[in-house]
Amino acid sequence: MTVSKVLVVGAGQMGAGIAQVSAVAGLDVVMIDIADEFVARGMAGIAKGLGRLVDKGRMEAADRDAALARIVTGTDMAAGADADLFIEAAPESMDLKRDLFARAAATLRSDAIIATNTSSLSVTALAAAVSDPGRFVGIHFFNPVPLMALVEVVRGAETSEETMAAARAFAEKVGKTPITVTDAPGFVVNRILFPMINEAAQAYADGVASAADIDTGLKLGANFPMGPLALADLVGLDTTKAILETLERELDDAKYRPAAVLGELVAAGKLGRKSGAGFYEYGK
Ligand code: NAD
Repeated sequence: MTVSKVLVVGAGQMGAGIAQVSAVAGLDVVMIDIADEFVARGMAGIAKGLGRLVDKGRMEAADRDAALARIVTGTDMAAGADADLFIEAAPESMDLKRDLFARAAATLRSDAIIATNTSSLSVTALAAAVSDPGRFVGIHFFNPVPLMALVEVVRGAETSEETMAAARAFAEKVGKTPITVTDAPGFVVNRILFPMINEAAQAYADGVASAADIDTGLKLGANFPMGPLALADLVGLDTTKAILETLERELDDAKYRPAAVLGELVAAGKLGRKSGAGFYEYGK
C-alpha cells in the first residue's frame, strides 16, 4: 500500500504538524477536529509555520500555497473516507481514541491503515477497537513535528508486516527517519530520556550542581543540544512527572519513580516554560 491521502484526526499541536509535513511532501490531507475553531487554529499554525520557511528563503511561496491547497479541513471523518492512512492525534484517552478507531474502521476502505500517534497508551490495546488489528500501527511523531526528524513506528501484537512497511515508507515520505519499536511503555525514546531527566532532577535536588551547571555539563560533556532540566521545563514538569509515573506503573519498577523535587515544583504551580517558571525562571 502506498499512501497518497491521509486523514488526520485532531488539529492540535501534533495533528497540525502531521498535516503540515504530509502536505509539504505532496500528499493529499484531510484534517478534522471536533469544532471549526480548532480546525481554524490548526490551519493558522500551519500557515504561520510555512510562512516562516518562505520568509527565511527555505521554501518558495508557490510551494507553500500548493501545500496549503492540499489540506482539506472539516469536522466530519466522512470528508476523508477515501484516505489510505488514518492518523489519530486526539487527546491521550483510551476511550476517546478507541471510539475514533471504531468509527474510522467503519468509514474508511477495508485496506486503509489505521494509526495512532499516542505517546503512552498501548498500541495493542488501542488496536482492539478495530476488527482487523493487522492494519493498525503506532506512528509516533515528536514535537514539534516539522523540526523533529524521528518517527517511532510501533508494532502492536497483531500489526502485519505489510502495515509496518507502509508506515515506515510514509514516515520516510514525509521526511522523517523511522525506527521500528515493539509496543512497550515509553517505546524507545521516552523510556530512556525520562529516567535521564529524572536523574538530573535528583542531582539538582541533592545539590550536586546548579540547574545551569547540570545542563551545561550534559551539553558540553555529552554533546546534548539542550540540557535535561531545560528540556523538562520545555516538556512541562507535570507532563514529565506523569510520564515517569506511567513508566513506573507499567514497567513495575521503582527506578522510574519521579524525583520528589518534580512533585514539589508541580505542587507550587511551577510547570516549566508554560507557567513562567520551573527549574528556571522565564520572562512572561
Ligand atoms: P492537543 O491537545 O494539542 O490536540 C488535540 C486535538 O484533538 C485538539 O485540537 C482537540 O480539539 C482534538 N480533539 C479532541 N477530541 C476529538 C475528537 N473526538 N475528534 C477529533 N479531534 C478531537 O494534543 P497534542 O499535543 O497534539 O497530542 C495529541 C496526541 O499526540 C496525544 O495522544 C499525545 O499523547 C500525542 N503526542 C503528543 C506529543 C507532544 O509533545 N505534545 C508528542 C508525541 C505524541
